[in-house]
Amino acid sequence: MLKLEDSYRHKGQRRELVNVIRKKGIKNEAVLNAINAIPRHFFFDSALHSHAYEDKAFPIGEGQTISQPYTVAFQTELLEVNKGDKILEIGTGSGYQAAVLYLLEAQVHTIEFQPKLYERTKKFLPRIGVKVKFYLGDGSKGLPQKAPYDKIIVTAGAPVIPNDLLKQLKVNGILVIPVGNRVSQKMMKLTKISETKILQEEYDNFAFVPLLGTGGWR
Ligand code: SAM
Repeated sequence: MLKLEDSYRHKGQRRELVNVIRKKGIKNEAVLNAINAIPRHFFFDSALHSHAYEDKAFPIGEGQTISQPYTVAFQTELLEVNKGDKILEIGTGSGYQAAVLYLLEAQVHTIEFQPKLYERTKKFLPRIGVKVKFYLGDGSKGLPQKAPYDKIIVTAGAPVIPNDLLKQLKVNGILVIPVGNRVSQKMMKLTKISETKILQEEYDNFAFVPLLGTGGWR
């Protein structure tokens, strides 16, 4: 799948990273395999390659970050990805989360608010063999033109659960979204049991950059 240069050293560091994430509680083997398969250093400037396999978020420009690998794994595990799922990701950023979903054989639609990140990632992911659909715009209200989705993942911190996202889910669909204030958010999993019934589950606190736009922080 990936056409840039990987190395034994990076592969070893990736196996270590997977061990770290496993010890923190991630159990889904398909998710762990995806993290193991994706050279995260490709998503970094070459000057920062030595940091790519630390379990940390990192700046990617425009005041944004590539999420911590554990966070990516946690959100992906909650999403219960099945082969062929139609997934909307809100917050393309570096494209790393989108690449994980692609390796899990989902059909990925990803939307980004910042034009520079959109342009950069839209060029970059195809170069490493990752095929997803890119959109530029405010994803805080979802992407109604491609709805409904099996799953929706929000990778920025929201002040509330945007009702539009629940509307764009299929019945039995899952929304994973961090909700809270600008500094700390609780990870939430919402399962649409029927057109009118939502099962809401809450998990640990995380620290995401803010979800901007009309359904986010204005
Ligand atoms: N998923 C990304 C990755 O794997 O690198 C992490 C992204 S970063 C934590 C959050 C991203 O959400 C940023 O790129 C930010 O520009 C984007 N964002 C914030 N508000 C948004 C909105 N309303 N619509 C779309 N993207 C948004």
